Order: sequence, then structure tokens, then C-alpha cells
Amino acid sequence: MPSRFQRVALPCLALALVIPSVEAFGKDKHVHGAVTFNVAVEGNVLSLEIDAPAINVLGFEKSPRNDDERQAVASVDAWLSAGRDIAGVPRAAGCRLQSVSYEAPKLGRGHADYRPRYAFRCDNPAALEWVELWALRRLKDVEKAEVNVISATMQRQDTLAPGSLRVSLK
Ligand SMILES: [Zn+2]
Repeated sequence: MPSRFQRVALPCLALALVIPSVEAFGKDKHVHGAVTFNVAVEGNVLSLEIDAPAINVLGFEKSPRNDDERQAVASVDAWLSAGRDIAGVPRAAGCRLQSVSYEAPKLGRGHADYRPRYAFRCDNPAALEWVELWALRRLKDVEKAEVNVISATMQRQDTLAPGSLRVSLK
């Protein structure tokens, strides 16, 4: 029979295990042209977070003013919330998209960022030698793509060369 303290303490412990890896990525500044990808491998879960100014996702950053812009917002919402064509990994890793955390940013007069998060469950995480950030193909006017990688064995920050999508996870 667990004591009252244990019952309270267990959920806190679970949170404490999850939060430091996310916090370790830090908070990135909003700079047009600069996007950040946070990649974490924990056990058989690969998580990917994209942090991109709206202007690099939509091509604009204010409230949509016409049908073309409204259509662009809807199509980005559909893409990011479905999680297709976001990232690729070696087939042998056997990863499937498990969950998506996506909230469309509020577009108004100020700056806005897209911050979708994806979790993939992988049958064979040992085969996770790289991840390809396919989302970059759809982002616009990206001048700098920074990638933070955290796994049980390493923590690294890379800047992708222009046109390059692949990030080593080894
Ligand atoms: Zn902005």
C-alpha cells in the first residue's frame, strides 16, 4: 500500500524526467529566415519539434488579407496537423507517427511562430542513424536551419548546409 507521499511523488518524478530534455533546447529568438529543429531520441521514441517564424512557413506573417493567403493558412494547418512529409528516417528503424501536437499561431499585427511537435514510435531505434527534415522543402526563404539533437548518448547542435536535409543521429 503506497503512502500518500508516494502517490503524489510519482507523477512529479515522471514530469521531472521529461521536462529537462525539452528545456535543454532553450528558447530560440524569433528571427526571420532562421528555423530551429529540436530532435530527441528517448528509448524507442523519436520526437521532433519545429520552431519557425510564420513568414518562413506561409510567406507572410500577418492576418490573411485575401483568398490566396487564407488558402495558404488552411493548407499549412492541414499539412502540419497531419504530420505527413515532415521527416524521414531509415526504413529499418520502423518508425510510425504516434502523436502530433499542433496549435495554429494567432496571426495578427505582430510576429508569430509555428511550433508543431511530432512523436514517432520506432520498432528498431538502433537503426536510427539519421533523420531527414523534409519539412524544409516546404518552408520558404530559410537562411539558417539549426538542429539540436539530444539522445541518451549525446547532445549536439548543427547548422544545416543550404539544400541539405539530413542530420546524423550518431
Ligand atoms: Zn516575425
